[in-house]
Formats: sequence, C-alpha cells, structure tokens
Amino acid sequence: MRRLGIALAMLLTISVVLPAAAQAPGAADLDAIYKIKDEGFNHSQVMDIMSYLSDVYGPRLTNSPNIKAAADWTTGKMKEWQLANVHLEPWGPFGRGWSNEKFSAQMIAPRPFNLIAFPKAWTPGTDGLVTADAVLVLVQTEDDLTKAEAQFKGQLKGKFVLTAPLPQITPHFEADAHRYTEAELADLSSQEISGGPNANADRIAQFRATRELNVKLQKFLLDEGVAAWLEPSPHDDGTITVQSGGSRDAKDPAAPPRIVLASEHYGRIYRLLKKSIPVTLQIDDENKYYDDSLDSFNIIGEIPGSDKVKADEVVMIGGHFDSWHAGTGATDNGAGSAVMLEAIRILKASGLKMKRTVRIGLWTGEEEGLLGSRAYVKDHFGDSTTMQLKPEQAKLDAYYNIDNGTGKVRGVYLQGNEAVAPLFAEWMKPFNNLGMNTLTIRNTGGTDHLSFNSVGIPGFQFIQDEIDYDSRTHHTNMDLYERIQEPDMKQMAVIVASFVYLTANREEMIPRKPLPPPTPQRQF
Ligand SMILES: [Zn+2]
Repeated sequence: MRRLGIALAMLLTISVVLPAAAQAPGAADLDAIYKIKDEGFNHSQVMDIMSYLSDVYGPRLTNSPNIKAAADWTTGKMKEWQLANVHLEPWGPFGRGWSNEKFSAQMIAPRPFNLIAFPKAWTPGTDGLVTADAVLVLVQTEDDLTKAEAQFKGQLKGKFVLTAPLPQITPHFEADAHRYTEAELADLSSQEISGGPNANADRIAQFRATRELNVKLQKFLLDEGVAAWLEPSPHDDGTITVQSGGSRDAKDPAAPPRIVLASEHYGRIYRLLKKSIPVTLQIDDENKYYDDSLDSFNIIGEIPGSDKVKADEVVMIGGHFDSWHAGTGATDNGAGSAVMLEAIRILKASGLKMKRTVRIGLWTGEEEGLLGSRAYVKDHFGDSTTMQLKPEQAKLDAYYNIDNGTGKVRGVYLQGNEAVAPLFAEWMKPFNNLGMNTLTIRNTGGTDHLSFNSVGIPGFQFIQDEIDYDSRTHHTNMDLYERIQEPDMKQMAVIVASFVYLTANREEMIPRKPLPPPTPQRQF
C-alpha cells in the first residue's frame, strides 16, 4: 500500500509541473505530452486490458481457441475506441492448434503426494487417468541410449519414464526482482564488440547434439509405448518452464505424452527409484489438437493521419500477442500487448492530431520463431532473403516494440542506428524523471522488431527493467497477472504514446541505416 501511495503522489506531481513552454527545435512537444500523461496516468485502462488478456482469455497459444477468443475481444475493444481498419490479417501456414483441457498428477505409492506438473505443448495426452510405475532410464549420451535400448527393450510399455539426471538446485541468494542500477545502465550504454562469429559455435554444436539425441530417444520411447515421458523443469521453487514437445505438422512422427515436473518433485521420484523403492504415479493429461485452420492471424488497427500528404506514411507499434500455455501469458507478452493497446487508446482519446497514420500490429507465432511479424513484413514491406522491397517499405517510418515483461522503460536500444540518437535523447527528456535516461547503440534480439530491421525499416525495442522476468515468469506457470506492475505499465504506455506522437508529426521520417544485405538463411 505504501508503495502505491508514493507512486500516485509521483504521478500527480508530474501531471501538474510540466509547463507549455516555447521549445527548442527537435524538442518534444510538451503540450501534447501533458495531454498524453494526463490520459495515461489519470484515466488509464491498461490494467483492465491486462486482466482480460490474461485472466479471461489466457493463455494465448497460437492457433488455440483461447487466442482466437482473445483476438475477438481485442478487435471489439479497438472498434469501441473507434480505431480505423480494425481487422485480423491472416498469415500461414502455422500448423495445427493445441490446448490442454484437463491435467492432474499424483504419486500414489510409496506415499500419496501431489505433483506440480504441466504437459508440453503439441504433445498427445494420456488415454484417460493412467496408474503406472515410474522407471528411471538415464540417457545423456548416444552410448547411454544404446545401453538403454539393450537393457529396457520391450519393458517400458505403459510406464512413466524418467531419462534426465537429478537437477542440481542451489539456493537463491538474490531477490527475484531487479531494476537496473545507474551503474548497470551506464554499462549498457557502452558499445560492445563481439568476440567473432565462432563465439557461440560450441554452444550451437552442443544444442544440435542434444536435439539429435532427443529425437532418437523419443523414437525409442514412442516405439516402446510408454505412458508418458517425464522431465524436470529447468527452473526450481515449484516454477515450471514449459514450451513445445511435439510438432505442429500432423504428418510428422508423433511424440509420446511429455510432461514437465517441478524439479524438486522430479528429484523426489528420482531418489526413491535410485533406492529401488517402487514408485506408482497417477496422471490424467487430456489435450486437443485443432486441424480446422492451419493459418493464423495478426491483429491490426489504425488512427488515420490528419495530413493530406503525410497520411500515407505510417508509424507502427506492436508486440506479440501469443504466449506459452502454462501460465496466462501475463508478462510474455500480455504486458506488451496491453501497453501497445493502451498507447493507441491514449492517442485516440487525447484527440491529438497526428500527421502520419499510426498503426498497431499484434503478432502471433512469435514464440515459434517471430512467424507472424515475419509474414506481415514479407507481405507488406519486402523479402529479407532477397531484399526485394515493396513500395510500402519506403512509407513505413518506424516500428516500436514492447516484449520484455512488465518492467518500466529505461531507454531505447538503437539497433546500431547512430543517426537517431540525438532525436531520441531530446524525446526522452520529459521522461527523465520517470527513469528513462539511457540510449544504447547495442542491438537486442529475440523479438519482432528484428523482422522490420531485416528489411531496412527502423525497428526499436525499449530497454525495460527486468523485474522478475527471467528469474520467475518467462515461459513459466507463474506468468500470471500478479506479476504485473501497474505503475510500470502506465509509464510504458505514456512513453510509447509520446514517441509515436512525436514520430508521426516530425517533418522528416526517422533516419535509416544503410539497407542490410539479403539473409538467405533465417538469421533469427
Ligand atoms: Zn516468450
């Protein structure tokens, strides 16, 4: 409560101190920013949007019934706000949909014990409630697999099989949540020079080897007819990180039911089996596949530009709308979607005139490889594999993205675009007292602004406080509404709205880097 009080006091102070002063060239338009702050801080809807996207419709796995319902709700809201050109824009093929309908897991012998566990996406369920023994078949190398095949062939039918070693768990001496310190931000603002193309070679080779071994191991377990393949979460403290364990293509080889257990619960079963104490589990895992439509969609809406000449130029904002399936996709990326929706609502509600058209794009299929934004960029702007560009590429001014959880904006990653630094430095000034002070020439990866950069469009991701994103919520069962920080969400929406407003009314478009070369192979 105390924290909320301070935050409110801070916001009220900000809304009254900004003067409508004469401005230096290139400076932010403080009258407009005053209106944006007033709408975003005093009439916010961001937490209500957030609760609908997570509590009501989450999780939003691409091509699941949930994400379709969430998209219908979202386009309904956008129409209610009187945005123009609101529509779902199809792209594809993505592949079949999947959802978990029911799940329970218990140890029933030697002692009754409830298990924290989740199925991996795109894996089949068990055939109803299955009661069976657990078997430890340790496989970490090709050699282990050969031995396991010799030792266990014909004996694993209907069993719950554990193949991973005991997770090593260490105490957490640091708090889950973290905000950037001034020293960390200063460090982030310095340019990094990479260690050369081979810096990651070992890691990639290791990753490939593990993947190949897993394919063979999966085939062995499937041929055996196991009841389910159990694995420990890479997380601990009852938190489960879980993504996909099967294919979105119905023609691919099937997977057995695959289930991720809390690492401590996996550990208990493992230690019992090591003592040769029989363990009986009871698991009910009911999953559904959806093959009616293999295509997905992006969610699009606009505020048309007010200037006859500039209205066919577009400023875009966006983030990915899809999530993984164990939590409700609150921080990843309900937060970014809610902030972007709130930003465009603020702009519309404030009645501010914007010369260029402002467009929101909420992408699906991000978690499976930036698929939705890549498809949108290819349809509208150009093909990054050939660098054949379309006329719209020259008209898209800039793209702003949010996809790093609930933490407030501390600055911008410039993606190597030096020319934009003086401009953004000016635009950040009205937000210095809200903690936004840092520009870094560095790139950040892993999300949808890359799709835009790959065809030479200035695409930016904001620097955000981590809060407990990597330590707790990212792709986990704990990615829930409670992890969302309301003051941070309001700060983000106001900053995005202001940057969009300033971009849309600037005389020239945002400076561009030289066009990148074609990337025949997918680089991200
Ligand atoms: Zn993610």
